[in-house]
Amino acid sequence: MAATRAIQLRTEIPGPRSREIVERSAKAVAAPLSITFPIVVDSAAGATLTDVDGNTFIDFAGGVGCLNVGHSHPDVVAAVHEQVDRFVHTDYTIVPYEVYVALAERLGALVPVAAPVKGAFFNSGAEAVENAVKFARAYTKRPAVIAFEGAFHGRTLMALSLTSKSRPYKEGLGPFAPEVYRVPFPNEYRGVTTGEALAALERAFTTQVAPANVAAIVLEPVQGEGGFVPAPADFLQGVRRICDRHGIVFVSDEVQTGFGRTGRLFALEHAGVQADLVCVAKSIGNGLPLSGVFGRAEIMDAPVPGGVGGTYVGNPVALAAGLAVLDAIEDEELVERSASMGETIRTRMLGWQERWPAIGDVRGLGSMLAIEFVSDRATKQPAPECAQAVIGAALERGLLLLSCGIYGNCIRVLVPLTIPADELEEALAVWEEALAATLE
Ligand code: PLP
Repeated sequence: MAATRAIQLRTEIPGPRSREIVERSAKAVAAPLSITFPIVVDSAAGATLTDVDGNTFIDFAGGVGCLNVGHSHPDVVAAVHEQVDRFVHTDYTIVPYEVYVALAERLGALVPVAAPVKGAFFNSGAEAVENAVKFARAYTKRPAVIAFEGAFHGRTLMALSLTSKSRPYKEGLGPFAPEVYRVPFPNEYRGVTTGEALAALERAFTTQVAPANVAAIVLEPVQGEGGFVPAPADFLQGVRRICDRHGIVFVSDEVQTGFGRTGRLFALEHAGVQADLVCVAKSIGNGLPLSGVFGRAEIMDAPVPGGVGGTYVGNPVALAAGLAVLDAIEDEELVERSASMGETIRTRMLGWQERWPAIGDVRGLGSMLAIEFVSDRATKQPAPECAQAVIGAALERGLLLLSCGIYGNCIRVLVPLTIPADELEEALAVWEEALAATLE
């Protein structure tokens, strides 16, 4: 157990002040914005979060993967203050600013794409995906896009059309964008091999859409919302070959996998594959809205001038945060930390899997790890109620855990990569207690 306890619980959970604000929320805020943890944040630093009742939690949700360098990283906060004091907005395409160019140069040199690389910034992950499709369509002059079962690419029209989980994301919200075709994603645990997934992709060129009509294949190198399912290296290499053969743009959505989460700066690096376009968001902004598309210059230059953009895209405050995030990742060696911390967490998870039959699978890359709950190891019947019960038991004990998976039966790790070793140990001990309380 940790020498110092980070978790401090002073009231029942949720406390009275949190309860009151959540009740007000129910009246004032639209119901679809349903709340996962009924605790209301007051402040946050590193891997901990303190609520308005004075309770401190360890945060394994990390703002859904936005906080690889931790809550309120001091250098990011300083960079944000510095930028806010100078100017906040002009619209880069009206009056440009250097911080946009500086981050574009820096990210352009880091993404797994063959040089020369150019970039464009947006606000959200969904916007990055929407625009990646625009770049690919303008370049290839083709309409179709292929996406995968289990994919999550966001909630705007094209991004949602590419997303594959129907409830809650798509239910009642159609019609969706045309010219989106879907094929299976490899999934070792659920019996879809690389060979089968590649064969299904090839078959789709006969049964669904001619390859000469396909602008882009869009994939997550590790599916995030879909359940932390890593694409095997030979699958990614196979997709690369197929894209090359047919002149299709390979789009890697690294919105959740990027910036060290998987033990490499970008997940595609594990497979030694280069994309044509890479979508980034989440942890690059440390919580400020910032996303981007980076790719081969000839593709990025294809739309007509003014063909991509938006009033707020590439906000200078968010870009200043982005530069400070890259510094922190390098200075604090967070990519290496993610790999070594991932081994610590994985070892612990494998022990849990041995102890409790309800844990059917342990998987992921680096610190992007998840456990999958099943009611029966033989049939692999998903057990989302189990995942929810463990999350509830962890919350009561001061640990914030997040589910994922197309069946909602996985619990994932999106903890800040900056978490001190003793806090990580404390969190894993609490998670283990929550598992024991639920499963025994
Ligand atoms: N792509 C991936 C892989 C994601 O995980 C997400 C969000 O979870 C998105 C796109 C959408 O990002 P945003 O919610 O910022 O629009």
